[in-house]
Amino acid sequence: MCEMCGSTEQPLVTVTMDSGGTVRHRQVCQRCARSDASTVVRRPVRMCVRCDRITDTPVLVSEVHQNPRPGFSVYACGDCAPHFPPLPDVFDLL
Ligand SMILES: [Zn+2]
Ligand SMILES: [Zn+2]
Repeated sequence: MCEMCGSTEQPLVTVTMDSGGTVRHRQVCQRCARSDASTVVRRPVRMCVRCDRITDTPVLVSEVHQNPRPGFSVYACGDCAPHFPPLPDVFDLL
């Protein structure tokens, strides 16, 4: 849920707010992130493929290739990433 307006709109983004020297991280909707000029989006956020949480420290765990469509990358959060075996592209075997 957005910490600024309470919206449940997804996806949420993590923004860094510098309020008088105190740096805080907040999860806000994209509208609030855009509307507040003082917020700085530090990095792109991703949804963890395992726990569905939005993480600002995404770890690439797999790349999916679906010819002829362009492939996409699968990300996990830092907590879940260690649970993924270091398999090369299991999706390619489908
Ligand atoms: Zn909001
Ligand atoms: Zn996760």
